[in-house]
Amino acid sequence: MRALVTGGAGFIGSHLVDALLVRGWEVVALDNLFTGQRANIAHLAAEHRFRFVEGDVCDAHLVDELIRGCDVVFHLAAVVGVKHVIDNPLAGMRTNVLGTANVLAAAHRHGVRVCLASSSEVYGQSEDVPFVEDGPRVLGPTWIPRWSYATAKALDEHLCFAYRDRGLEVSVVRYFNAYGPRTDPRGYGSVVARFVNQALSGEPLTVHGDGQQTRSFTYVSDSVEGTIRAGTMPAALGEAFNLGSEEEITIERLAREIIALTGSRSALTYMPYEAAFGAHFAEPRRRVPNAGKARRLIGFEPQVSLQDGLRRTIEWFRG
Ligand code: NAD
Repeated sequence: MRALVTGGAGFIGSHLVDALLVRGWEVVALDNLFTGQRANIAHLAAEHRFRFVEGDVCDAHLVDELIRGCDVVFHLAAVVGVKHVIDNPLAGMRTNVLGTANVLAAAHRHGVRVCLASSSEVYGQSEDVPFVEDGPRVLGPTWIPRWSYATAKALDEHLCFAYRDRGLEVSVVRYFNAYGPRTDPRGYGSVVARFVNQALSGEPLTVHGDGQQTRSFTYVSDSVEGTIRAGTMPAALGEAFNLGSEEEITIERLAREIIALTGSRSALTYMPYEAAFGAHFAEPRRRVPNAGKARRLIGFEPQVSLQDGLRRTIEWFRG
């Protein structure tokens, strides 16, 4: 089997590359290293079944060339992380919409199956928690840049289903706060990475808002296993799946848990959202998946508890 992994030098993408290689696949990773890092794939330098291509997913010609001859495209390339999206909404929309349109058009031309990485962000501020795949999406106004990410991902999903209706084999995974080794230590896109980094340096852990907002955290190996299942199993065709742990935790508790596991003396400091992200910032209060559909159709069952996952992540950050 042969795969193209877009965003393959990124956090989840590089773990996905590793997992596919272990299963005997040939893998090409396409990444422009916007947030991806060569270090994430450096250990694969001598692997003859792996090739890295530095390039832009918006380059239609390149994408077409790389997709031809593949069995599956795992499309993860995106501008990710609230801060990046807010700082640079145009770049975000360009990659997150145009890039996906390119991938889908080429995959359709060549009859190659696609698995799209979408996000729990598509549910926006829906209070219908835990989220189910066919539940409502509640987004704020279009002049708040934050919602451009959710809107772009939702448009990507629409594109997938439009191509599905034209015969493309496609599935969609909505990740819920994946974390683990190789997250950006500056914490872009990962509150776990930011907290671990702050705890290990003895700095205060910066909790945005009152810390009572909840999230569910999924260890990256579980996200990757679900992604491979969604990208290869017949039962996943034409479907969207929540890929996330159903364990809900407040951000404040997460911070305290990380302080305890690192043995840090750090305190917590609370920062209003406006100070962190500017005026007009909006944040979903609770974000928890119902993963029943993924469990039923593709046997998705997270294996790594939050404590274990945090321990492994802390160990990696220490290293
Ligand atoms: P990441 O930033 O590490 O991965 C994204 C990768 O895409 C990076 O390597 C980046 O360099 C690459 N990229 C960006 N623009 C590109 C372009 N124009 N051309 C080629 N490559 C480009 O973040 P991640 O957490 O690994 O995210 C992977 C995917 O999962 C993304 O699609 C993201 O939206 C989605 N997702 C992640 C999470 C999470 O919890 N980590 C949650 C929801 C959705």
